[in-house]
Amino acid sequence: MKPAPFAYAKARSIDDVIALMAEHADARLLAGGQSLIATLNMRLSSPPLLIDINGLDNLKRIAAKDGTVQIGALVRHAEAEASPDIARHAPLIARALPHVAHPAIRNRGTIGGSIAFADPAAELPACLLALGGEVEITNATGARAVAADDFFKGLFETAIGQGDILTAIRVPAARADSRYGFAELARRHGDYALVGLAAAARADGKALKDVRLAFFGVDARPVRARGAETALERGEDGIAALARDLDPHGDVQASAAAKRHLAGVLLRRVAAQLAEPR
Ligand code: FAD
Repeated sequence: MKPAPFAYAKARSIDDVIALMAEHADARLLAGGQSLIATLNMRLSSPPLLIDINGLDNLKRIAAKDGTVQIGALVRHAEAEASPDIARHAPLIARALPHVAHPAIRNRGTIGGSIAFADPAAELPACLLALGGEVEITNATGARAVAADDFFKGLFETAIGQGDILTAIRVPAARADSRYGFAELARRHGDYALVGLAAAARADGKALKDVRLAFFGVDARPVRARGAETALERGEDGIAALARDLDPHGDVQASAAAKRHLAGVLLRRVAAQLAEPR
């Protein structure tokens, strides 16, 4: 199918984007286009104007300093996947990226697009949540940081509002005592997950502390399993707590009961990863 007609503007700066958004309330930002163009082609959305942000070079940087890794919104999945800084300082994201779609899509898709689109079965929103990261959002009044715990609001719904552009994400850099885990079940590698789990923790002797478990593909948004987090910190397996934490939604791929079972399978796998030094 072909999209409904739309106008196109190439922004040259963030100020340009903000001015265009102020003038055209129904405009949509175009990043990698891997999700947006599909929705236009299927006529699920028909914005009158696309504002192309691909020319904003200052949103294409990865910087690791002062214990934080900042990833610009326009860093492409493939660039992040190949980045030594991401491999060293944000290994959970490095581990998740090969599961995001296929190489052709990762060559164009952007980190900011993935977080802004907030597909409930997507890997990167869950990684951001597991890492306790934050999202930088810029608008006419300046930039603000929104914690990942407050960013994902509902189905494809985030803290990004009218006139906002997501400019970067920030995550705590890995430390010597950091532990990470990642696992997902999909019908084929590269498909959206049936169920997935991204996790971060810190080693405390032989125990774990600060455990954060972010499940994806089970709810309208990535969700933390707080009871299971506490259970893992106590040295328990967390399976009983998980049954209370999650209320999976069945979808075309799997029933709620199947997702509940698979979430337990993933928790066991990820708990074993968290027990190992990276
Ligand atoms: P776009 O498509 O350009 O934009 C998506 C939405 O986000 C639009 O509404 C746009 O206006 C908004 N947006 C984009 N950037 C910003 C910004 N900086 N500020 C504010 N709003 C913004 N993803 C996964 O996570 N896992 C998968 O397994 C997976 N499989 C896929 C399989 C296929 C066949 C396809 C086509 C896509 C798949 N994707 C998957 C999606 C892919 O990762 C997309 O690249 C990503 O979701 C969107 O990134 P984008 O840069 O292409 O954004």
